[in-house]
Amino acid sequence: MMTEDTISAVITALGQSAVGIVRISGADALAVSGKLFRAASGKSLADYPSHKMVYGHIYDLRDNSLVDEVLAVYMAAPHSYTAEDVVEIQCHGGIQALQKILSLTYAAGAKPAERGEFTKRAFLNGRIDLTQAEAVMDIISSRSEASLKLAARQQNGELAEALHNLRRQLLDVVVHLEAVIDYPEEDIEEITFGEVKKRILEIGAGISDLLSNAHTGRILREGLRTAIIGRPNVGKSSLLNALLKEERAIVSEYAGTTRDVIEEQLLIDGVPLVLSDTAGIRKSGDYVEQLGVQKTRDLLKDTGLVVCVVDGSEGLTAEDEEIFQAAATRPYVIIVNKSDLNVAATFDILKQRFGADKVMTLSAKTGAGMDEFSAWLKGYVYGDKETLSGGIYVQNARHEELLRQALHALKEAGQAASDGMPYDCIIIDVRRAIDLLGEITGDTVPDEIINEIFSRFCIGK
Ligand code: GDP
Repeated sequence: MMTEDTISAVITALGQSAVGIVRISGADALAVSGKLFRAASGKSLADYPSHKMVYGHIYDLRDNSLVDEVLAVYMAAPHSYTAEDVVEIQCHGGIQALQKILSLTYAAGAKPAERGEFTKRAFLNGRIDLTQAEAVMDIISSRSEASLKLAARQQNGELAEALHNLRRQLLDVVVHLEAVIDYPEEDIEEITFGEVKKRILEIGAGISDLLSNAHTGRILREGLRTAIIGRPNVGKSSLLNALLKEERAIVSEYAGTTRDVIEEQLLIDGVPLVLSDTAGIRKSGDYVEQLGVQKTRDLLKDTGLVVCVVDGSEGLTAEDEEIFQAAATRPYVIIVNKSDLNVAATFDILKQRFGADKVMTLSAKTGAGMDEFSAWLKGYVYGDKETLSGGIYVQNARHEELLRQALHALKEAGQAASDGMPYDCIIIDVRRAIDLLGEITGDTVPDEIINEIFSRFCIGK
């Protein structure tokens, strides 16, 4: 499915750096590069074997002026990123050199690549499936080492393979049922409703397995959205500062992409936390007073974890109760702070009320109990698995949603089999599950969705 146009883009970051790369992809890649690149040997790039780095220069042929000293490499289809003919030119990394060389490729007939177009071509040309293409973006935007690891595995095709296996098994079921329908007089192995149901549920269990890790995968990818709430002076900012000290990687402030607030991102024991609106958190003692429980709930709506802080040395107040109420609509943990003072009574009461696994005590001031809190966070994210040793972690909300729908379709198919419905009815549900899984891998995905996915990439990817 070769696309007609030959495209080009700068594939490295635009800024000052030692090296920058311009990629040209498409049937005319060699012809385009031939109009600007001259090998020092005097030979043409096409005279060299594929994947051989060639030293030379870029010229602007319109006035024969020298532009830059470069290395060029030709990668013959299908052994390239896009599976098309590709030429990459490594030049000096300044914006001027890159832009100039890029404009020369346009003058030589290349079209500007759209967002994600190189990766999209790799997908359309069948080199990678959609999960692998999406993993490219995940690798680029990974927020933690664990997330990078998962994305790399996905890019390597682990998820794709698991999904293809599940689809194949479902197709076997369909083929078998259709054979029984189409050739009733033939001696096709009878299959009982009980057996059909068993097969379908087994395959459904495979999907459940994939879903069971999605919670972890999503947090590692997107970060755990965390809000620290509590009444004034319980120690929220002290806890935040203590966490920032614990943190073993870079803290960055960036404008959230989905909402216009400043978020603080930190890694606690490899778990990426996104503390939204730190300024707000600092004042969040006022949340409940000013906003009431309902508004606080609304604010917490897309929070992954609410950390409720109470001052254990003071006992509980009506205000604390309101904060618990608001927090309980989300996953939460209660921190009994100031354990360097006498907090035993409050700690016991809360453990009794909310369960020992939801209540922790620590001192933001002395740091006592902070390790336990980190361990709790890790447990919350990884469940009983602790590490990422094996298994496939679905990191992508799109995949998760489609897996859920496929599982639902299989449950309906299982139910239809239980009810002894005609084979046709069972087949419809199983086929729906097959299509939904195909939508994840890109086998049965509508064009608009493909375009939507790649439009989230940047130019040059
Ligand atoms: P916020 O209003 O909830 O953000 O509370 P702060 O973090 O500003 O803390 C309020 C007061 O409690 C400050 O004087 C802190 O020094 C003190 N504080 C915070 N954490 C602890 C703790 O663990 N032990 C003790 N003894 N004092 C603490």
